[in-house]
Amino acid sequence: MDVDAKTGPDQITAPLVVQSRTFGAIAVIERNCPLCGHDNAGEPERAESFDVWTVRRCAKCGFVYTDKAFYGEHPPADVRLSQSRLSKFMRFRLHLLGRKQWDVLVEVWAQPGAVMDLGCRDAAWVEELSPAFVPYGIEPDPHLAEAAAQRLIERGGTCINGPIVGGLSMLEDGFFSAVLLRSRLQREVDPLGVLRETHRVLRPGGVALVKVPNFGALNRMIMGAKWCGLRYPGHINHFTENTLSKMGEKAGFSVHHGLTFTLPTSDTMYAAFKKAGGRSRRYSACRGG
Ligand SMILES: [Zn+2]
Repeated sequence: MDVDAKTGPDQITAPLVVQSRTFGAIAVIERNCPLCGHDNAGEPERAESFDVWTVRRCAKCGFVYTDKAFYGEHPPADVRLSQSRLSKFMRFRLHLLGRKQWDVLVEVWAQPGAVMDLGCRDAAWVEELSPAFVPYGIEPDPHLAEAAAQRLIERGGTCINGPIVGGLSMLEDGFFSAVLLRSRLQREVDPLGVLRETHRVLRPGGVALVKVPNFGALNRMIMGAKWCGLRYPGHINHFTENTLSKMGEKAGFSVHHGLTFTLPTSDTMYAAFKKAGGRSRRYSACRGG
């Protein structure tokens, strides 16, 4: 077993077994920076590290990531260390400010046509979606995929039961008007690879709509390892507005934001990644904000 080789943007290598205080003996793969491929083993551990899940900042590009990922079909349930110091009222207000409705985002940003939801769970949200869109999904969990398929087939689409990258690789080029990555990219071993496949399956002028935890949030800076956006071992990519934009551009997209897509007071952020071509459509800062 070659345990020295690590994952980079374009490679997945053999797993090794580590002893976790929380999960016992657990198979993991080691990772280089998922944005630029740099090996940061010599960089200091950040304060967000927990148990065997070491968080590092790439010395070359600044991306913050967990340098191991769980390996296997049945990941353990995520552990959260979060303790909010904010009042219930304040959390409610921040929630209202930051949260978006996906049916509205799709209608504002996408041309009518096929919409792919990566990790669609039971696809309940499509009941609010305009009939101008035909919803599809990829879902790794077989029970959720079955529930999603019932909803999606009714609307003219379908659900693929399987891993995200494997499911994407089955799809033809240039078919979708929009691809949704709802709280997805922070969990992917190779997020750049997922975005490149997303770019391939979008038609010219198509858009990828992304939601991830906002590592640049003020609350993260206060809470450290107890920030609500950190979950172990599920969340392994920790995006700021800057590194999310860099990754979108590296995958071939132009990056757009609405007015409230990246608030420092919100624990989550959004981005619209547009594929070049298609009918010209102007995007403005007030769109979808
Ligand atoms: Zn890097």
